Amino acid sequence: MAYETDRPDTGGWAPPELIEIPPVFVWPPRPAALLKYVFGWNGYLFPYNALYAVLGVLVWWYLIPDLAETKTLRIDWIAQLFLENLVIIVVWTSIWHLRLYVQRAQDTDYKYNRRWPKSSELFLFGSQLYDNVFLTLVSAVPIWTAYLVLTLWAMANGWIPYLDAREHPIYLGLFVLLLPLYREVHFYAIHRLVHWPFLYRWIHSVHHKNSNPTPWSGLAMHPVEHILFFSSILLNWIIPSNPYMVVLHLLRMGLTPAPDHSGFGKVVIVNGKAQVDAATYAHYLHHRFFEVNYSDGAVPIDLLFGTFHDGSQKAHNAMNERFKKKNARANSAPAA
Ligand SMILES: [Zn+2]
Ligand SMILES: [Zn+2]
Repeated sequence: MAYETDRPDTGGWAPPELIEIPPVFVWPPRPAALLKYVFGWNGYLFPYNALYAVLGVLVWWYLIPDLAETKTLRIDWIAQLFLENLVIIVVWTSIWHLRLYVQRAQDTDYKYNRRWPKSSELFLFGSQLYDNVFLTLVSAVPIWTAYLVLTLWAMANGWIPYLDAREHPIYLGLFVLLLPLYREVHFYAIHRLVHWPFLYRWIHSVHHKNSNPTPWSGLAMHPVEHILFFSSILLNWIIPSNPYMVVLHLLRMGLTPAPDHSGFGKVVIVNGKAQVDAATYAHYLHHRFFEVNYSDGAVPIDLLFGTFHDGSQKAHNAMNERFKKKNARANSAPAA
């Protein structure tokens, strides 16, 4: 693990180790590191991806109507799905918010920004929390539900490919295993798109008002960004899948933003004896410096495109150089 003493001040606590490229993508192979990364605690599978896979099973089994029922669009099952998603997001995000920001159970321990968020006129209703909750419940949940409804409806009617997972367990396993990697690439693509200046001003600046994000900031986006964000599910319109795979795909998009915007690198549980990773430092740095780390790092796509910030002073200087060059280019451009 790479440690460095010379580190830029990024506002508060910073993980002692730099952000690393996952051992899946390094050469020569590091089998021991790879096994630890995939199966270890706070690694690729545990706790989050395993938890999402299990929650996906529960939601699909208990809360999702059969394809026979979703064959026709009817208000009863559509309203049911909307309410279920609403409850899921309120419960999940509130757990994070209440523990870290209301109860302040660990004060600012492991908090990336040592300050607590302050409301300002920048936000709807003059409050970061109300703004974030409003955008999540009024825009994110309906758009998430719309994608879910349309996908289940299309699948029930045979318009998109269906596959019986009981006959293809390996395929199902690979889907569950690789979905987070696909999500990274999709998120990187739409995220780069909405950083294009015109779209940034119009759309993505709504999310970036949260320079000191909290769990509710995760899905606080402009509706157009929600449409782009949840469009990841269109993968299931192309490759064979089934309702569980659809539910899991959308559910993890609903759930991952809360921990990743919690503002805390670690959450302390079990009387302070255990720690669970929460927000990625990569995405915190994105909210702080904007044009770095468009992805969370499960796929080294930022490294590939020169926008990776691993938390080191060297990466920090490189970022500042990049910004300087960009500003110089902008200033030397003929006025329109
Ligand atoms: Zn964000
Ligand atoms: Zn952004």
